[in-house]
Amino acid sequence: MIVGERKPFDEIVDMLQPYEKVLVLGCGSCVTVCVSGGEKQAQELAAQLNLQASQKNLKREADFDCITRQCDLEFKENITKKPENYDAVLSIACGVGVGFMSELYPDVPFLPGLNTTFYGANTEPGTWKEYCHGCGDCVLAWTGGICPIAKCSKSLINGTCGGTDDGKCEVSEELDCAWYKIYERLKELGRLEEYRKMRLPRDWGKDRSNGPRRLSHEELMELSEEEEASNV
Ligand code: SF4
Ligand code: SF4
Repeated sequence: MIVGERKPFDEIVDMLQPYEKVLVLGCGSCVTVCVSGGEKQAQELAAQLNLQASQKNLKREADFDCITRQCDLEFKENITKKPENYDAVLSIACGVGVGFMSELYPDVPFLPGLNTTFYGANTEPGTWKEYCHGCGDCVLAWTGGICPIAKCSKSLINGTCGGTDDGKCEVSEELDCAWYKIYERLKELGRLEEYRKMRLPRDWGKDRSNGPRRLSHEELMELSEEEEASNV
């Protein structure tokens, strides 16, 4: 899931400064699960903004709503409070949601209420940890399921750097060395030969240097066209 955390309240207030009528829009998916941007958080943030506005005699008025997914055209109609009726929308979805909604409502400023941080897993109550960086060329098959792109501080792909020390990363003694973990995991799996193979330099073009990435499933696109044609 995509993990995000709410921006500091002062930064949000600063962003909203030019606007009077504001909609705080939550997202019912990843950011609801990581307790940052769901309906409850949208309601709380709107209440906090209204309290601050009344204490400081500001004209700003905040309302809230939440849709199933801000990153999915299918749920656009879920919005009961129409964005075009507001001076600005403070979206507390991830950056994908903010960006997509900005395209869907070009006349309304969409502002980010969250900092989108990483792709992570809920590892214990209240804790999310990064597991993937979305690099576009997954190597987990030969790293024992441990991602060197997300978990190694230098995103190395050919084993430890010279700074690894007793299982810890040279960047911080708080961090495990990802490649030490990969070595231990491959040893457990009886697949240390994978560790010894020299990997060719990665094609980072599959990451982000070639511009925004896209995934298209032809069969779904064809199905949707057929459905549209049968509805005419
Ligand atoms: S190798 Fe790439 S796709 Fe695979 S988990 Fe790591 S960042 Fe994600
Ligand atoms: S010490 Fe390990 S985790 Fe840290 S940068 Fe070097 S190889 Fe990567």
